[in-house]
Amino acid sequence: MSKRDYYEVLGVSRDADEQEIKKAYRRLAMKHHPDRNQDDQEAEKKFKEAKEAYEILSDEQKRAAYDRHGHAAFEGSAGSASDLGGANFSDIFGDVFGDIFGGRSGGGGAARGADLRYTLQLDLEAAVQGTQVEIQVPTLVNCEPCKGSGAKPGTQPVTCNTCHGAGQVRMQQGFFSVQQTCPTCRGRGQSIKDPCTACRGQGRVEKKKTLSVKIPPGVDTGDRIRLAGEGEAGTRGASAGDLYVQVAVREHKLFKREGRDLYCEVPISFVDAALGGELEVPTLTGRVKLKVPAETQTDKIFRLRGKGVAPVRGGSAGDLLCRVVVETPVNLTKQQKEMLQNFQISLQENSRKQSPKSASWFDGVKKFFEEMKF
Ligand SMILES: [Zn+2]
Ligand SMILES: [Zn+2]
Repeated sequence: MSKRDYYEVLGVSRDADEQEIKKAYRRLAMKHHPDRNQDDQEAEKKFKEAKEAYEILSDEQKRAAYDRHGHAAFEGSAGSASDLGGANFSDIFGDVFGDIFGGRSGGGGAARGADLRYTLQLDLEAAVQGTQVEIQVPTLVNCEPCKGSGAKPGTQPVTCNTCHGAGQVRMQQGFFSVQQTCPTCRGRGQSIKDPCTACRGQGRVEKKKTLSVKIPPGVDTGDRIRLAGEGEAGTRGASAGDLYVQVAVREHKLFKREGRDLYCEVPISFVDAALGGELEVPTLTGRVKLKVPAETQTDKIFRLRGKGVAPVRGGSAGDLLCRVVVETPVNLTKQQKEMLQNFQISLQENSRKQSPKSASWFDGVKKFFEEMKF
């Protein structure tokens, strides 16, 4: 079967620009669309022809190939261009008509239930060790008395007279024919003469579901646990959506988590820092002793191997990193102040050796001012 020239199909000249091609296609598609010409083989053929022509001519590369080689350019590449398949109106028109038609749910009103998200707040301990929690999720479930049909038990929904089951109707709006959700059946494609009293004809009822969720050890903020089929019920027998439990770990008083490692800050007296000593530090599994060597400076980090978190995706536990912070004593008594003043005097006698950091810092400051030209 010989094919008509694509430009001829769209009724545009060979130098037509993008806009002209789009416009021509829009006009033909509207005229011959199968939704408007039910059981009209000729219209369907014309619609496919126009669609194919548009797909080639609206693509810069394909158009150039067509201009050079004609239909031969696309021979052998399976004719997907003209395959209308089961695509619905919005699939085909999305690119051209996206500005006119809003999104559309599945034809006939059967739609998979929505996915739900539930944010689960967890303490760090529970997130690290794993836990089992009961959550209550507000969701739509199939109405039991009518089994989700919306019709009073014993009766059946009937095909909507307005849209003949399509769920969508065409409205003329000036130049364009606009597709809208059927106002009679609100897109379901069916109308219910005798609505079910339990769901008032909706087929679904709101219900708080209680679910028991197993939280594996090692989860962290942002991790999601998918519970297949625990989302909203679908309509008209379509499958239910999924429920995503999104983990959010509460801030902890002592620990901060970064990946596999835990961080904590440990205040230490300047006497302990100077003389060294043994500190008791917390871990998620209990207290442990931390030996602090003499002459420890503030901000020094001590690593406790394996006292971090084993990640949920596997692998060994990270470390606990304890940062010691030297605490300046407050509320000193008169006697303590005198002791410190005496101590200070004793330090100054040998400051270069005993306070090397300050000594070199003051040297640097001195040099800085000497080199400054006033
Ligand atoms: Zn309808
Ligand atoms: Zn019902």
